[in-house]
Amino acid sequence: MKCILFRKSGIMNFKNVKKYCKLTYEVFKISPVHFIFIYVLFGAGALTSALGVPALQMVIDSLTKFNINHEKMHSVFLAVIILFAVKMLNTLFSYLAGFLGETYDLKSYKHLLGKFIRRCGSLSCIDYEDKNTYELISKAESGVKGAISFINVVMDLITNYAVYLTVIAVYLIRVNSALIFVLLLILFTVIIEQKIKTGLYSKTEDLAASDKVQSEYYADCLLTRDMVKENKTNGFEPFLLKKLNAGLKNISELKNKETKKATGISLLSNMAVILEYLGTIVILSVCVIRGSISVGAFAAIFYSVDELFSMLENLLYGRLKSFSETMGKMNNYIIFIDADVEKEDKGCISGQKAVMFNNVSFKYPGSSNLVLEKITFKVDSRETIAIVGENGSGKTTLARLLLGLFKPFDGNIINPFETDNSSAVFQDHAEYPVTLSENITFSDKADRERVSVLSKKSGITEDKDTVLSVELGGKELSGGNLQKVAIARALYKNHDLLVLDEPTSALDPISEIEMYKTFEKLTKDKTAFIITHRLGSVKFADRIMVMKNGRLVGFGTHEELINTCGYYGELWNKA
Ligand code: ADP
Repeated sequence: MKCILFRKSGIMNFKNVKKYCKLTYEVFKISPVHFIFIYVLFGAGALTSALGVPALQMVIDSLTKFNINHEKMHSVFLAVIILFAVKMLNTLFSYLAGFLGETYDLKSYKHLLGKFIRRCGSLSCIDYEDKNTYELISKAESGVKGAISFINVVMDLITNYAVYLTVIAVYLIRVNSALIFVLLLILFTVIIEQKIKTGLYSKTEDLAASDKVQSEYYADCLLTRDMVKENKTNGFEPFLLKKLNAGLKNISELKNKETKKATGISLLSNMAVILEYLGTIVILSVCVIRGSISVGAFAAIFYSVDELFSMLENLLYGRLKSFSETMGKMNNYIIFIDADVEKEDKGCISGQKAVMFNNVSFKYPGSSNLVLEKITFKVDSRETIAIVGENGSGKTTLARLLLGLFKPFDGNIINPFETDNSSAVFQDHAEYPVTLSENITFSDKADRERVSVLSKKSGITEDKDTVLSVELGGKELSGGNLQKVAIARALYKNHDLLVLDEPTSALDPISEIEMYKTFEKLTKDKTAFIITHRLGSVKFADRIMVMKNGRLVGFGTHEELINTCGYYGELWNKA
């Protein structure tokens, strides 16, 4: 069966601009006044930063005039005050914009992450059986931050860079139109320098990527709590360390090569920068000699070359580069959030009393083999059914279809039970890092009395307030005790359908016998399916389903099957 999710997903393209605008509007709507205020502050910061250049020119020009005419003291004073005010305002605006921007980022993150988590929750179980889903989820998760960065980048380009560069360009043209060449020269140097650098760094990143992933994986193996025990007892540590060290050695060799090349490249790029200074001095000097600009303009422009250089560098290789990167990430987020989940209720008809499978076949996403083939049966309400068969015969898959977690590939299922009134114990039951009591009461209101009764029935002796996590200062339960908690949790939830998949596999023989007695009592007025390999323990079941290689090869009472189903006889004799 094909994964239901993202059949209609698209790839990144500019046609999605409408969606980007919608997302930006959504982020804007979180707090419109706050949003506008931040970007007005960014614009004001850029404006005051650019105005710093003419303000500096005013100071130098007034000082030059003061040297000639000592009565011009007040204009020096005024120019210094203007420069001071411009610089102060710039610091204030930039600081405030940065601070408010960060708090807004947190709000946006909370909003977009919440949406992402809700979307993950709406995925169906079959989506989680497809490896592509994990990739999409992980991409969309980094898309949360990507979307915020993208909005920041776009707003920054409009309110910061555009304002700054326009003001500077207007200033240069007004002082002398030839000065626009200074801007072009800096632009040219930035492009040359970055072209040389990025070529080298991205090549090293590519070469080191696979060693990085592998080293991180081996480091995880060495540090993860569950694996540490097995590593130590089975003597895997030296092997893992050897693998880790080999990866790290490759990475450091690549880095060494990169450092050597980078030193030579730095030298080249520094020369490019020196040439840019030289070119600027030449252009400015010619303008001064011709009398077309003042000494103040010369000094102010020359002083601002560094700022202009880093501004253009940031714009071309920081902002514009992250524009496409973050747009790609945001696109992954949008695809994930907006993807249509097809409602495939094919084969699932509610409202009937009996559970019926009609020629049901099933295969997992990405697999061509049928795991269940043409299964047909009818189970009346309040019947208890045992499902038996060898490993891999399809029992767990059948249970997932019974619970509505998977939909049939072919055939149809009539199931009167909704998720709200079904309950299950799975083989890989979860242990949540909260108290034992909370581990049981998740599904409903916490009722300590009910918890005590069910805990007793399930044979739980642990304190109900024990936190089930060593990491959080609590305790790790034994496999058997954990299984008892999972059983109590399933029984705590209101249910008319109970599906138990090997519910006693971790219990000792005495607890197992007790548990089956509990099941017998608790399943009397419910519809129940119990998957088990302990054939002797399910005598209380009304009927037994026998599974073999994805097919239902026998269905009846123990006596009927012993007489009619040879395969059941084989299983029974082996048990
Ligand atoms: P049982 O519960 O009887 O041991 P299962 O229902 O777990 O059998 O598995 C039936 C078959 O489905 C097995 O061959 C198993 O390898 C295959 N299978 C189980 N889960 C997946 C999956 N997520 N993707 C592909 N094949 C799977």
